[in-house]
Amino acid sequence: MSFKPIPINPKKSPKIWVYIVVSTLILGVVGYFAYQYLFSPGSRRWLDFSAFKQNRDDYAEILLLPGMRCGDAPFAFPTTGAIFGLWSQSYRPGHIHAGLDIFSATEPGATPVYAAYPGYLTRKADWISTVIIRHPNDPLEPGRQIWTYYTHMADDQGEESFVSEDFPTGTAEVFVEAGQFLGYQGNYSGNPANPTGLHLHFSVVKDDGNGSFLNELEIKNTYDPSPYLNLAVNHENNPETFPICEDEITFENWDLVKEYE
Ligand SMILES: [Zn+2]
Repeated sequence: MSFKPIPINPKKSPKIWVYIVVSTLILGVVGYFAYQYLFSPGSRRWLDFSAFKQNRDDYAEILLLPGMRCGDAPFAFPTTGAIFGLWSQSYRPGHIHAGLDIFSATEPGATPVYAAYPGYLTRKADWISTVIIRHPNDPLEPGRQIWTYYTHMADDQGEESFVSEDFPTGTAEVFVEAGQFLGYQGNYSGNPANPTGLHLHFSVVKDDGNGSFLNELEIKNTYDPSPYLNLAVNHENNPETFPICEDEITFENWDLVKEYE
């Protein structure tokens, strides 16, 4: 009896392995993003997002309003919108969101943004869509200096700024009251090739100890805004639901600029 060796095609075998490895990798990557999109904490908010944009009126219960103060929150709410992006939420691998994304579901340049707390406003020379306000006395920790940061207030290309004319580029340390009109929500991301969805990004930023602010893109340089607004906006504590006020709501007597709607 003799065995005939099974012929091995030396050209074919490696190819099969390449297919298997490549398709496993592709499936892994697609699966990861599908999981992130559909099943990871926070995805429920995003799945409702397109419906919200189409008919905001159906979502009145999650829509927060400017000048709204939740319970004894030190900050009043700075604009109109639903909070879809929370503090400490991850939108994509390697990224952790350091602020709140508040979506008005209107048009760029239509929904006003107001200062949430009194302080000293600065707009750097190259800031198309952004202002920052210095608060020398943190209402939650007196004696500590903090900053509040407001951005995306320009059109998608960054050609038309929606920041109030009261604060031209180069503005430094101008006192503003809570409720001061700062500009309108926009969709400029800083990169004209990749505009963001229309919203306000709002964050509470740490001081560098030398009278300036730290880079608010990194979460370690920011504070959880939850206690400042008395809203559950820390993603770790509230991964699924839309932050709404669970306390008594009052409204500041702000002289509101009207929305063009
Ligand atoms: Zn944001």
